Amino acid sequence: MKSTGLTQSHSAQLTGSCLCGGVRYRLDGQARDVVNCFCGQCQKTSGHYVAATRVAKTDLTIEQGDTLRWYDSSKEAKRGFCRQCGGNLFWDNNTEDSISIMAGTLDKPTGLQTTLNINTEDASDYQLIPEIKSLD
Ligand SMILES: [Zn+2]
Ligand SMILES: [Zn+2]
Repeated sequence: MKSTGLTQSHSAQLTGSCLCGGVRYRLDGQARDVVNCFCGQCQKTSGHYVAATRVAKTDLTIEQGDTLRWYDSSKEAKRGFCRQCGGNLFWDNNTEDSISIMAGTLDKPTGLQTTLNINTEDASDYQLIPEIKSLD
């Protein structure tokens, strides 16, 4: 998944969790609008494509992380997931100062919009690509 910067944003405090509640987090500051990533790694880890918001790392607080585990999915990035329920929560590129948060783990309402598709050249043949702007 590529970083696309903090263009659109939402500044209310957001909270989220995995399915079992073993991981709970809070986002302060501005959250980027949601980007869909169709890359192969996102598909294999999520079971579909990933829809993620993004915040500065200093704006992410893990309030409960007993079951949070990290998988080094590439040389420069790792993915945070819950070892209890298997929920995918985070994508963290070690070289960047912001972190992606899987949007489906956010508590509703989020106030966010989905604004961009990336890596659509890797989409699977069954997948429907939302009719919004795409960056390949
Ligand atoms: Zn991806
Ligand atoms: Zn869980």
